[in-house]
Amino acid sequence: MRIDIMTLFPDVVGDMLCESILGRGQERGFIRIECHQIRDFTKNKQRQVDDYPYGGGRGCVMLAQPLYDCWKHICDEAGERVHTISLSPCGTVFRQEDARRLQKEYDRLILVCGRYEGIDERFIEECVDEEISIGDYVLTGGEIPAMVLADAVCRLVPGVLPDEECFTDESHWNGLLEYPQYTRPEVWNNRNVPEVLLSGHHEKISNWRREQSLERTRIRRPDMFNMHDGTL
Ligand code: SAM
Repeated sequence: MRIDIMTLFPDVVGDMLCESILGRGQERGFIRIECHQIRDFTKNKQRQVDDYPYGGGRGCVMLAQPLYDCWKHICDEAGERVHTISLSPCGTVFRQEDARRLQKEYDRLILVCGRYEGIDERFIEECVDEEISIGDYVLTGGEIPAMVLADAVCRLVPGVLPDEECFTDESHWNGLLEYPQYTRPEVWNNRNVPEVLLSGHHEKISNWRREQSLERTRIRRPDMFNMHDGTL
């Protein structure tokens, strides 16, 4: 999986995605993440990437031209039109099943990070295949949403995590939340690790985890619980 990220802050995004598991995934060649400075594709002396909105109103809007030239540069180098996602609070809300779909269906993705009041709609019409939001709130830029999406997709790429169970066992994979987890010591601040986890009895542990998972989902996310068929 290769992900190209179009942003005004390539260093911040690149540094973050080079750390830890995704960093090792890149070193080992399972994934590749490239960040592109949109400003490098401006055609004006001031390297300006935004301008006032037609129709008036506050703030500025990102110009279509540098975005288009940056996008075209990536597609030309890829030798094909790459599936392109714009991060936007107006997009459909990102879920685990989207991460799974994107990882399965595409070898390459382009992520476009907006800033200011957003992006000239004509660039979106011309180049963007889907608009994705990471939640019903507004951030100052698309960089954090792009990192969220890239992380969620890349950790599903075979080889990035030690084995599939690392993600198939986790919250949201089967429409449930994960059971509570504990580590050493057995007693901390007068709080004990549940007995069953110390029993060594695999079936009992597995049943306990299943019950906890269902109960936690029922209490915290009744919307998810009602959609679930009760199996794990
Ligand atoms: N004026 C826009 C609106 O009301 O929909 C908000 C623009 S926001 C301040 C600037 C950029 O941050 C957006 O273009 C988008 O790339 C990013 N952004 C903000 N919130 C987001 C969210 N919830 N999900 C994805 N991207 C978001």
